[in-house]
Amino acid sequence: MEKRRIAILGSTGSIGRQALDVISQHRDLFEVELLTANNSSELLIRQAIEFDANAVVICNEEKYSEVAEALEPHYIKTFAGMQSVCDLVTSDNIDIVLTSMVGFSGLASTVDAVKAGKTIALANKETLVAAGKIVMGLAEKHNARILPVDSEHSAIFQCLMGSAGAPIEKIHLTASGGPFRTWKREDIAKATRAQALNHPNWSMGSKITIDSATMMNKGLEIIEARWLFGTPGEKIQVVIHTESLIHSMIEYADGSVIAQMGHPDMREAIQFAFSYPFRLSLDNRKLNFAELGNLSFFAPDKEKFPALSLTYEALEKGGNMPCIMNAANEAAVAAFLREEIGFYDITDIVGECMAGADFAADPSLDEIFETNELTLARAAELIRKTAGRRSL
Ligand code: MG
Repeated sequence: MEKRRIAILGSTGSIGRQALDVISQHRDLFEVELLTANNSSELLIRQAIEFDANAVVICNEEKYSEVAEALEPHYIKTFAGMQSVCDLVTSDNIDIVLTSMVGFSGLASTVDAVKAGKTIALANKETLVAAGKIVMGLAEKHNARILPVDSEHSAIFQCLMGSAGAPIEKIHLTASGGPFRTWKREDIAKATRAQALNHPNWSMGSKITIDSATMMNKGLEIIEARWLFGTPGEKIQVVIHTESLIHSMIEYADGSVIAQMGHPDMREAIQFAFSYPFRLSLDNRKLNFAELGNLSFFAPDKEKFPALSLTYEALEKGGNMPCIMNAANEAAVAAFLREEIGFYDITDIVGECMAGADFAADPSLDEIFETNELTLARAAELIRKTAGRRSL
């Protein structure tokens, strides 16, 4: 395998840090070209020096001089602002762009990387949720390969290897069920921020951990799978698998099911996106089947987790509806993390935004950005009302 030059968008987050760990295990095969971060200037500086990055972007412009002064003696170029991320991802020195920033904010730079024909290691699922049709269309046009980093989608992608193009009959998308799987609905309604952040199997950033607790993460993944694999929603089924050892499965027309397994460790999916189609060694925990005992599977409880029904509804409507769902969710999760609203207020607000939104059946990229802004404003209004009611 030839050496690959990598840009990590969001290098100080959970996925970004794990990606650097993967790179540190294969310094002869991977080279860090570009690192970007929103605010975490200190960690960004340390990472840039350790991995001898060519350039960094600190999105928060107020931190530019701090980063630039620290990196100048190391001959590492420093840039500031989101636009710099969009400009730099198109650089000729970059082979793979890992999109590990949080939420809709990742869309603009992903689109630019796709247009430049880069290989995208996609960790930012919101990009495909908000603008899946547009991004996949651009990827085809510009010959940009999109490799999934989400563990479920990496699993599906791996299950498809060697299928000789046989159509997917069904995707079995596995879900841990999150921290509230066994809780009663009335108890979930009172769940606190700390309880929702306490994920049983995966260690992740706070936004995705709350999404896992509401199961909106699985909803976003259904839409992500729809675009990555061209599989309609009715063929994507969620199954709770509490051990998180099967990362997802594909069923073919003959009933044969192919599963991909491993201990829950994001580095596996990250590394495979970096090394595809090759497999490299990884210092991780290997499966010991004799010690595993049983694996369990359940149907998800749609009453306790309304996010799943909202997702299928958004997929069926299509157009800008998944973008509306995603924007409302981002705003509501942020409000829940600020402890302004309750747990079920998150999905209530998403549902209200979807019901009252301006629907566009075939939105342009500009209209997607506009939908996002309008929905954030609408959600902010609903959050204010809900927070006001709660404080009475
Ligand atoms: Mg996932």
